[in-house]
Amino acid sequence: MPQLQEIRPNLWLYEVEYPDFSVRGALVLGQRCAAVWDSLTQPDDMAALSGILGEKPFYLVYSHADWDHCWGTGGFRRAPAAIVGHAECRRRFDDDVPATLRRMQLAEAGRWDAVRLVPPNLCFNTALSLDLGGVTLELRHLPGHTLDCIVGWIPEWGLLLGGDAFETPLPVVNHVEILDEWLEGLEAWSAREELRQAIPSHGSCAGRAALTQSIAYLRALSGDRNFDLPATLDTFYAETHQKNLAAADDKLDRND
Ligand SMILES: [Zn+2]
Repeated sequence: MPQLQEIRPNLWLYEVEYPDFSVRGALVLGQRCAAVWDSLTQPDDMAALSGILGEKPFYLVYSHADWDHCWGTGGFRRAPAAIVGHAECRRRFDDDVPATLRRMQLAEAGRWDAVRLVPPNLCFNTALSLDLGGVTLELRHLPGHTLDCIVGWIPEWGLLLGGDAFETPLPVVNHVEILDEWLEGLEAWSAREELRQAIPSHGSCAGRAALTQSIAYLRALSGDRNFDLPATLDTFYAETHQKNLAAADDKLDRND
């Protein structure tokens, strides 16, 4: 069961923790309807949200199609009014999303049997705004970690939901060919003075820390390699850092 926390009026964060890994989603409550930002890893992860949602209609938004963000959709008591995602997120449901589920079901018998894959049915390319009544969730494409990544801006609260577009202690680089575009996208958000809090799916929710640290990391990765990282990284991030470095080296080699 996820841990639920109301971090400000009408904004709940929910988080599932495994021994080696944790992931978080967000529930935004408007006067008319609500938005659920990611369904996490399996249907049980969504069970606690139904009580808060009550009878309110809600959108489900996928920050991107990686398994830890969109596998819990079968867990809602009522169907969402729409499932929103980037057009590339929709495409991935015909491609790597079912392939990953099959692979993980084979690797861990029984653990993922309850997962039902439900693709987005309201898709966009650049931006989409959801008026929830008194609060708005503005969705914007921000490719980088994956090609289908989006972020969710709530102008009334100065708050940015990042999915995996930024992350602490460091972001996961899957597409080094668009590293510059990713960095530009993050820097454009960082230039907004009205942005007060950046909430990633993995890592620190303190102020703008996740956004600022991800920008510094990606700048160092494509520049002087002078990283400001914690003295110890857990296994996942230590390995990710090495993979990021190797990918950036490959890119440099190709450009020579
Ligand atoms: Zn993730």
